[in-house]
Amino acid sequence: MGTTIQTLEHNLDIAEIRRQFPVLNQQVNDKPLVYLDNAATTQKPLAVIDALKNYYQKDNANIHRGIHTLAERATADFEKTRDAVKTFIGAEYREEIIFTKGTTEGINLVAQTWGRANLKEGDEILLSAMEHHSNMVPWQMIAHEKKALIKIIPINDAGELLMDEYEQLLNSRTKLVAVVHASNALGTINPIKQIVQLAHRHGAVVLIDGAQSTSHLDIAVSDWSADFFVFSGHKVYGPTGVGVLYGKRALLEAMPPYQGGGEMIGEVRYDGFTWNELPYKFEAGTPNIADVIALKAALDFIDVLGKQNIRSYENSLLQYAYSKLEHLEGLRFIGTAKEKVSIQSFVFNDIHHQDLGIILDKEGIAIRTGHHCTQPLMGRLAITGTSRASFAVYNTIEEIDRLEAGLKKAIKLFR
Ligand code: PLP
Repeated sequence: MGTTIQTLEHNLDIAEIRRQFPVLNQQVNDKPLVYLDNAATTQKPLAVIDALKNYYQKDNANIHRGIHTLAERATADFEKTRDAVKTFIGAEYREEIIFTKGTTEGINLVAQTWGRANLKEGDEILLSAMEHHSNMVPWQMIAHEKKALIKIIPINDAGELLMDEYEQLLNSRTKLVAVVHASNALGTINPIKQIVQLAHRHGAVVLIDGAQSTSHLDIAVSDWSADFFVFSGHKVYGPTGVGVLYGKRALLEAMPPYQGGGEMIGEVRYDGFTWNELPYKFEAGTPNIADVIALKAALDFIDVLGKQNIRSYENSLLQYAYSKLEHLEGLRFIGTAKEKVSIQSFVFNDIHHQDLGIILDKEGIAIRTGHHCTQPLMGRLAITGTSRASFAVYNTIEEIDRLEAGLKKAIKLFR
């Protein structure tokens, strides 16, 4: 297997891609940086950095209400990103795209607006056993307030959802199914279309957490008939502080606003207010203008490379990592689903993940260690945390060789 991958059967010029990411070209602890923490946040290409710089150097102005040239330029660029996101995730209407500060805020928005308006005592919310805290705690908060019940869709030991059990959990009390598209701790890709179809048979609304899928997989919210979909800019080669909530137009129209303030209003009187139309109803206050504008540069970067090309290259990196790491004595992979994005967790019985992270950092290698904001999942797997390597389109097989060498060094140190 190793040799096929060494010849790199893909259509991407990785050296050229790496040149677009200046941050990769540095020494950490006197070793060339190997950045394998992409599930936490991706690095940013020059196009994104330039878009931010360009905005602040040339166009900085508050948007929507200004009539001067800078305000018009900034508004036009801000709204261009909305159109780009609509196409990128396969939505039907631009009004269905709400800018947030990230996945977490998008889920909280839905929990506090749709959830508060629609959940009542005895209603059921289904979450999967592999959810990130961001797709668990907001539901626990609103469920507690409304006396609704949370039920967990179980997984097998490979980290795959048990779809039969999911089907059995669905009933007329199920109001919401909130599931992750691709797990940040395991890499598992969940069968979203099937999940939505089954939920809709029971009249339940579905929220999909796309934080880990949007940079790797085709997103087709309309085709899936997803009710809500959320993702973060910083995990798709874009800036921090910006994210997207997609909601079906009819649902968003029926929901009350999230926060009050400028932009979200129709008219304000001393004794009350009316609210604005979509999408502005959910965008109170001055938004993160520069980062929204730069998000388009990130989506363009992905589009130019092509999702299929990215996925197939990242998949070969993942396979290569398997072939290199599976021989390491005492290493156990966590997350071995058939369908995966390029994320691999692993544990050693006798080396704590935190120690491993520190040793690898000394070698210039950045991985993530800990519970990955999935404490309940760690409990289900009877571990306290993992070491996680997550690959992006700029990673190389040489970097995986460095990871292997770093792990060998750690093993030697500890045994
Ligand atoms: N959901 C998943 C699956 C994630 O991996 C993350 C971040 O790691 C989040 C939600 C939260 O994303 P953010 O912190 O950008 O809001």
